[in-house]
Amino acid sequence: MQDLYKWLELFTEYGWFGLVILLEYLFPNRRYALLNKGWFSDLVHTYEPIVRAMLINACVVGVNGLLPSTGPLKNLLADVPGWQVFLVALLVSEISFYFTHRLVHRNPILWEFHRVHHSSTRYYSLMTSRFHLLDLALFSIPYVVVMGWLGAGGAGLVWFAFFQGFVDRYGHSNVNGPRFTGRVLMTPHFHAWHHSTDPAAFDKNFSRNLVVLDYLFGTAYYPKDKEAEAFGEQDYSNNYIVQQLAPFYYVAKKARQYFRDAVHPAADSRAARPD
Ligand SMILES: [Zn+2]
Ligand SMILES: [Zn+2]
Repeated sequence: MQDLYKWLELFTEYGWFGLVILLEYLFPNRRYALLNKGWFSDLVHTYEPIVRAMLINACVVGVNGLLPSTGPLKNLLADVPGWQVFLVALLVSEISFYFTHRLVHRNPILWEFHRVHHSSTRYYSLMTSRFHLLDLALFSIPYVVVMGWLGAGGAGLVWFAFFQGFVDRYGHSNVNGPRFTGRVLMTPHFHAWHHSTDPAAFDKNFSRNLVVLDYLFGTAYYPKDKEAEAFGEQDYSNNYIVQQLAPFYYVAKKARQYFRDAVHPAADSRAARPD
């Protein structure tokens, strides 16, 4: 059994990465070159899922010992079968990701960090991991704390990382898969709208694995007769280091503008008043 878990971990870290690129080559949705603008930086970002599968599960187990030893539901998952851990992990991941995702789109400071993920002008699997580190941490913390509190560990978490590793990579790919699957899973046809520059799709399709919360809270956008075509920001840097630093610059710029408006509100109202 331990061999199987080792194999699953290896496939989560490297297998999905290669398999989805192969599927993109065999069943492309849009006409792209295999390596698109910014591909090298995207490849650098790809270290993230390779460490994440191990790191997140290790953090869940580690956090358990740091939290108070007793309390409601504490260690509820400590001695349950793996499939139950899997289902709870899926539920916790869906809820924590969906609401954190809505928050980072609404909050102007957090948006500058999440914006890195939305900056790619191509929608293909290599950009799956294009994230700012603080954005990644923010998405992971609620999941790690809740699963740590519940005492999750073992096979259920390994299977969940395996499943999520596939959905993340496939959902961001240029694979022309069956459209109906987008009614259930975060697929390329569905999640591409989340990255689209079409105003009709702004602040839609926030889900991580299953799309049920988008349909439940009215944020789903999945037109039958249309396909997302344009993505990202042409002017956003494709350099990994710049992508990690740029959000601080943009936040400082917004803060300066905010304080300038707070100190000189009259200037604006004067300007707006007709002569
Ligand atoms: Zn987003
Ligand atoms: Zn995305």
